[in-house]
Amino acid sequence: MSSKRKITVAYGDGIGPEIMKATLNILDAAGAQLEYDVIEIGEQVYLKGISSGMEPKSFASLRETKVFLKSPITTPQGGGFKSLNVTTRKSFGLFANVRPCKAYSPFIKTHFPKTDLVIIRENEEDLYAGIEHRQTQEVYQTLKLISKPGSEKIIRYAFEYAKKYGRKKVTCMTKDNIMKLADGLFHKTFDEIAKEYPDIEADHKIIDIGSALIAERPEIFDVIVTLNLYGDIISDIAAQVTGSVGLGGSANVGEEVAMFEAIHGSAPDIAGMDMANPSGLLNGAIMMLVHIGQPDIAEKVANAWMKTLEDGLHTGDIFQENISTKKVGTQEFAQAVIERLGQKPSNMIPAIFDKSSTKPLEIKLSPAKKEKKELIGVDVFIDWDEDNRNPDTIGDRLRKADANGLKLQLITNRGVKVYPEGMPETFCTDHWRCRFKTAEQATISPEDVLDLLNQIKDLGFDFIKTEHLYTFDGVRGYSLAQGE
Ligand code: NAD
Repeated sequence: MSSKRKITVAYGDGIGPEIMKATLNILDAAGAQLEYDVIEIGEQVYLKGISSGMEPKSFASLRETKVFLKSPITTPQGGGFKSLNVTTRKSFGLFANVRPCKAYSPFIKTHFPKTDLVIIRENEEDLYAGIEHRQTQEVYQTLKLISKPGSEKIIRYAFEYAKKYGRKKVTCMTKDNIMKLADGLFHKTFDEIAKEYPDIEADHKIIDIGSALIAERPEIFDVIVTLNLYGDIISDIAAQVTGSVGLGGSANVGEEVAMFEAIHGSAPDIAGMDMANPSGLLNGAIMMLVHIGQPDIAEKVANAWMKTLEDGLHTGDIFQENISTKKVGTQEFAQAVIERLGQKPSNMIPAIFDKSSTKPLEIKLSPAKKEKKELIGVDVFIDWDEDNRNPDTIGDRLRKADANGLKLQLITNRGVKVYPEGMPETFCTDHWRCRFKTAEQATISPEDVLDLLNQIKDLGFDFIKTEHLYTFDGVRGYSLAQGE
C-alpha cells in the first residue's frame, strides 16, 4: 500500500493553474508524501449550469480525501451563482478560518515589520447564517445567531492552535458592551476556556479598538479569535497592514474536512503570463502539510521559501528596486524555492513546526448542561403606519389586549422606548416592538401567546413576528428594553 496521503486538488481559474503547478512542483521536490485527486471547479463548472461551481463527484472526492488544496476561481458575472467557498464551508462544517498574517520585512514592504499574528475566525454562525427578512415597507432584518457549542468549538480551536504552534497569547474580540447576550456568550465562553490553558495569556478587546490596534500596532497581537463578521473584516485589515495580501495562505478547518488556499483571487488580468506570485497558495499548502502530519516537509518548504525572498528573487508584485536582485516569473520562482530546499533564512526567523503530534487538532466540547427554560412574556412586532406614527395611539389601542394577565408593558421603535412616556423627538419607523408580560412576571403558556395574537389581530394590527421572552434557571434570556 502507498504511504502517500491522497488529497483533492483543484487548479481553478485565471492564475490558478500556474500557481498550483508551481506549488505542487515545490511540494514534490521537498518530498511531500502526496497523491493528487484532481477535480474541476469554478467558471467552467458554473457555466455548465452547476450553481455551486463544484460537481457532485468532486464533493465525493473531498469526502474521501478530507483535504482540499484549492486554487482561486473566477466567479462568473451575473446572479444565481453560489459562492463555492461558502458552499464548501457549510457542507463540510468548516468552522474555523485560520489566517496567519506575517511581515517579511524588508523583503516585503510593510510599516509594521514585527507583525506575526494569526486570526482564527468563526466560520459558520453570526450574521452569515443568511436568515434575512423584509418585515415592513421600511425595515429589513438579518439575524445574528451565536451558539454555545459553536463558540466553544472555535475558542478551543484557537487555544489548541496556540499550544501546537507555540503561540503565547490569545486575544478574543467581541462587541459585548452592546450585544450583551450574543457577543456576551462568546466572551464568557472564552473566559471559561482560557482557564484550562494557564500557560497561554488570554485577553479581550472590544472589536472597534481591537481593529484600530491591528491597524496601528499589529505586533502586540499573537492569536486572535473572533466572530464571523469581525473576523472577515480584521483578516483583511491585518493582511493589508503586513503587506501580505499577495502572500497570505488561509485554512478552513472542520472536524473532518479542511480546505487550504491563497487569500487572493484568480487575477484574470495576469492569467497565463507566468507573472503570478505562487506564495499565497504555497503558504496555504504549508499549513496543509502541518495539518496532515508532514510538519518536517512543511518546515523545509517554508524555510526555502523565506530564503528565496531573502535572496531577492521576487515576482513582479513584490519586486523592489533596492532589495530585489532579480524579477522572476511564477515557475522560475518555484525553481528558486526548489533549489533552496534544505536551506534556512539568515535574517528572518526560520519556521519550526511541532513534530510531536502529527494528528490534526482535535476539539472536544464540554458536556452540555440543561437549564430550566420558562416562558414569561412575548415581544410582538407590528407593522403600523397610521396617525403620523403617534406611539400613544398604538400603545393605547394595544392596552386593550389582555390574555390571561399578559398585557402590554412597553413599546420600542428601533430599540428606543416610545411608549409609555416616550420622547416626542424620537424618530419612529413603521416597525414597532411591543412587549407583553404579566404584572407579576409569571410563567405563561403558548396558548396565552396565541390568545394574545388573536386579540391583536382583532384590534386591527398586522403582527409580523414574535420573539418569546424566556428565563433559563431563572436568568433572563432577553435584553431589557431601555427604561424597563
Ligand atoms: P484578485 O485577488 O484576483 O486580484 C487583485 C489584484 O491583485 C490584481 O491586480 C491581481 O493581478 C493581483 N494579484 C492577485 N493575486 C496575485 C498573485 N498571486 N500574484 C501577483 N498578483 C496578484 O482580486 P479580484 O481582481 O477582485 O478578483 C478576481 C476574481 O477572483 C473574481 O472573479 C473574484 O470573484 C475571484 N476571487 C476568488 C477568490 C477565491 O477563489 N478564493 C477569492 C477572491 C476573489
